[in-house]
Amino acid sequence: MPLNTQYDVLVLGLGGMGSAALYHLARRGLRVCGIEQHGEAHALGSSHGEVRVIRKGYYEHPDYVPLLHRAYELWDEVNATASDPVFKRCGMLVSAPPDSETITGLRDCFEQHGLAHERLTPTEAMRRYPQFRLPESDAVYYEPDAGYLFVERCVKAHLALARQHGAESRMNEKVLGWSSDEHGVTVRTASGALHAAKLVITMGPWVRELLASFGVAVDVLRKVQFWYEAPDSDGYRDPAFPIYFVEKDYGFFYGFPAIGDCGLKIAEHSGGTAVGNPDAVDRELHAVDETGILRCLAETFPALKPIRKRHSICMYTKTADSHFILDTHPEHANVAIGAGFSGHGFKFASVIGEILADLAQHGATQHPIGFLRMDRLRAAGKV
Ligand SMILES: Cc1cc2nc3c(=O)[nH]c(=O)nc-3n(C[C@H](O)[C@H](O)[C@H](O)COP(=O)(O)OP(=O)(O)OC[C@H]3O[C@@H](n4cnc5c(N)ncnc54)[C@H](O)[C@@H]3O)c2cc1C
Repeated sequence: MPLNTQYDVLVLGLGGMGSAALYHLARRGLRVCGIEQHGEAHALGSSHGEVRVIRKGYYEHPDYVPLLHRAYELWDEVNATASDPVFKRCGMLVSAPPDSETITGLRDCFEQHGLAHERLTPTEAMRRYPQFRLPESDAVYYEPDAGYLFVERCVKAHLALARQHGAESRMNEKVLGWSSDEHGVTVRTASGALHAAKLVITMGPWVRELLASFGVAVDVLRKVQFWYEAPDSDGYRDPAFPIYFVEKDYGFFYGFPAIGDCGLKIAEHSGGTAVGNPDAVDRELHAVDETGILRCLAETFPALKPIRKRHSICMYTKTADSHFILDTHPEHANVAIGAGFSGHGFKFASVIGEILADLAQHGATQHPIGFLRMDRLRAAGKV
C-alpha cells in the first residue's frame, strides 16, 4: 500500500477506543486510516479477556449516565450487524456495606436518572441466587439492564464495520512519532510517513509519556483476570447467575456467569501493581495475585471448588481521579485524545468512538463530556 497518502483523519492505536473511533469516522464518509502496532484484538494491551461489564448504575459519577444511554444504543446497533453477538444483558448484583460510596453512589445515580433497579436484602438476593453467600450487613442492588460485552468481538466488529465504510488499517505497524502544524498532521512509522488533516490518539497504556509532556500523570497498573472451572449445572450460567460486584474490606471483586466453555471469570477491580514499560509487563502468575480472589470465591460461593483454568494479564491506565480524558490536545487543536480509561472504560467504547470522531471532525461534541476534559487534572495540581 502506498505511503505519503493524504487522509482526513488518522487513528493511532486500534484497541477498544481506536477501533470504535475508526468506525465512527468512516461511517461519516471521511477518508480514514488506523495504525496499530500489534494484531487485531490482540492480548497485549487493555482490551482482551473474553468479557467486560456494562451497566448504567454508575456510582463513580452520575454524569456518565447520559453517555451510557448512547453507548447502549450504539452497542445494540453493532449487535444487530455482528455475526456473533457482542452484547448480552443478564443483570448485575452489587453487594457492599450500606454506607460505602458504591451503595450511596448507586442510590443517588438510580434516583437521579430514573434507572431500573431493585434494592434487595442479602437474604432476598440469596433466595433468588442461592449460589451466593452475601454478608447480612451488606446492602444489595440488582440492575436488570446490566450485562456483558464480548471484548475482542467488539474490537473486531468495529474494525470490520469501519472497513465496510472504506477505512484503511495498518496492523503490526508501530507509530514512531507524529507532528502537527497548520497544514495537518504527519505520522511516522517504520514504513514511511502518513499525512492527514486530523489525528485521533487512542494509545491505551502507551499514552503515558504523551500525557506527561503536558503535565498529566497516569498510572499504568498490572491486573490479572482469572477463569475457574464452572460446575456442570446451569446454576452458574445466565439466566440463573448474574454479573456481580462485591465489596470486601480486602478489595473490590467482580465476576461473570460461565459462558460457553470459558469457565467463570472473576477479577479484582482494586489494587494492581505499577507497570514501568507496558511492553515488558510481567505476564507470569504469582501466588499473591490470587490471594484475594480465592478468599472472595470461598466467602461468596462456598459450594464452588475453585479449579483455575487460566489467567490473563491486562493493564489499567488510571488518572488521578479515575475519570477518563476526552479532549483535544492542549497545543494542537487538530489532535483528539481518548485516554486514562481507569479500568472502567470499555462499556463506553461505542460512544467514545462517536465523541472522538466529533472532536476530530468538528473540534467539539454535543455529548456532555465537560467533566472529562483534561484541564481538571492539570489545574488541580494532581501531577
Ligand atoms: C482486567 C481489566 C478488566 C476491565 N474490566 C472492565 C469492565 O468490566 N468494564 C469496562 O467498562 N471496562 C473495563 N476495563 C477497562 C477497559 O477494558 C479499558 O478502559 C479499555 O479497553 C481501554 O481501551 P484503549 O483503547 O484505551 O486501550 P487498548 O485497547 O490497549 O488500545 C490501545 C492500542 O494502541 C496501540 N498502540 C499504542 N502505542 C502504539 C504505537 N506507538 N503505534 C501503534 N499502535 C500503538 C496498542 O497496541 C493498543 O492496541 C477493564 C480493563 C482491564 C485491564
